[in-house]
Amino acid sequence: MTQSFISLAGVSRSYQAAGATFNALADVHLKIEKGDFVAIVGQSGSGKSTLLNILSGIDRPSEGSVSVAGTEVHALSESQMSKWRGDAVGIVFQFFQLLPTLTALENIMLPMDFANRWPLRERRKRALALMERLGVPRHAHKLPSAMSGGEQQRVAIARALANEPEVLLADEPTGNLDSATAQSMLELLSTLRHEGQTIVMVTHDIRAQRYASRVVTLVDGRIQ
Ligand code: ADP
Ligand code: MG
Repeated sequence: MTQSFISLAGVSRSYQAAGATFNALADVHLKIEKGDFVAIVGQSGSGKSTLLNILSGIDRPSEGSVSVAGTEVHALSESQMSKWRGDAVGIVFQFFQLLPTLTALENIMLPMDFANRWPLRERRKRALALMERLGVPRHAHKLPSAMSGGEQQRVAIARALANEPEVLLADEPTGNLDSATAQSMLELLSTLRHEGQTIVMVTHDIRAQRYASRVVTLVDGRIQ
């Protein structure tokens, strides 16, 4: 039997509240292949962010197993987890979350400093090449506050790609962008996918269905 690139098997995530158990995710089985661009859709509260956080190891399943590119993520210790996440996962957020006191270039170099995979003198070159690839080379020395939302999100994607992650995870990456900028962001993600990047994106954006290779719908913590 061949193992999928990413696989969730019997994943549940429950919370205890007022003496009752609430399932944010319930018995989720999901297989994602290398090079897929998966859009996860569903109403607010359906468990989309919980699913993404379990893929990145930010959260842990109450039950079930999570495998990403050969790593049994649920079984890692805390210190193994943060090392693994820095190497294998790139994460993009709705509100960009760039460090405000660092330039775009410095923001992109930060995960490379953390992972320590490339020699110091190469990091800057790699960061500039990523900015070029994402169409924002002119902004290398700007602070995030001097860039538009769309420009900040491109820098955030460059940062997420800094260590050549096995998977790019994005939680509502177009949620804070105007319609035209959101569309260009979806086109950008689609281009990255066609260059071989595996992507899992949570979104409310109905247009995402045109760009994703697959749409997964969550209803009350279950895949429909
Ligand atoms: P979505 O991203 O689809 O809007 P979430 O994954 O953030 O949904 O949340 C799914 C459900 O889990 C929601 O009902 C939310 O209130 C609940 N939930 C998320 N985090 C916690 C927590 N730390 N404690 C209790 N309930 C939580
Ligand atoms: Mg969410």
